[in-house]
Amino acid sequence: MSVIAANLQAVHRSIAAAAQQAGRQPLDVALLAVAKTVPPTVVRTAFDAGQRAFGENYVQEGVDKIVALADLRSQLEWHFIGPLQSNKTRLVAEHFDWVHALDRFKIAERLSAQRPAGMAPLQVCIQVNISGEASKSGVPPAQALELARAVAGLPGLRLRGLMAIPEPASAPAAQRRPFAAMRELLAALREAGLDVDTLSMGMTADMEAAIAEGATIVRIGTAIFGARA
Ligand SMILES: *Cc1c(COP(=O)(O)O)cnc(C)c1O
Repeated sequence: MSVIAANLQAVHRSIAAAAQQAGRQPLDVALLAVAKTVPPTVVRTAFDAGQRAFGENYVQEGVDKIVALADLRSQLEWHFIGPLQSNKTRLVAEHFDWVHALDRFKIAERLSAQRPAGMAPLQVCIQVNISGEASKSGVPPAQALELARAVAGLPGLRLRGLMAIPEPASAPAAQRRPFAAMRELLAALREAGLDVDTLSMGMTADMEAAIAEGATIVRIGTAIFGARA
């Protein structure tokens, strides 16, 4: 078995254990393999081990990888999880299946307009600056509903839910607090009538806490591919 296959197996075991501990079904937590800096050959190894959803942070790197792995395209799900500038929206709209870090209506409008007619709507999550860090992207929690309503009306997009990258913390209780706030925010969107089902939250260091608070997609790089250079 490849190292990647063994790592994937270990991550799936951790997800299952965390889900069971929270009284959730392991299959309700999807694993997104974050492949930034990982070459296409290694992504292919992960594919051979059964992984189908991959996340990229940088537009050009991601598009190059999608093109290099074009033979697998119909079997793969590509998620753009990095910050997105206006001048790169077209490439994302034309190549990716998901965008996780939407935090401006202007970007959403461009993605919707640039989504090719023959493709399924782009699945999107709104990024929330849940820890209130001055330097972080994401909308303040109080503005999430307004942006979500606006995004839900765009024809080229399908609003799926919310995403966050909380301030790092090491104690489990401190890790859970922002994830719990995200769970409540998603519930508020639902109560406002929005059809949302996704909480994209949890990375290698805080995956268990995110699953305990309802994460439906965990974004994992290091535990699968090793430390990045
Ligand atoms: C790099 C990255 C991840 C994965 O982080 P790891 O700690 O390597 O698991 C998840 N989400 C985003 C937005 C990232 O940039």
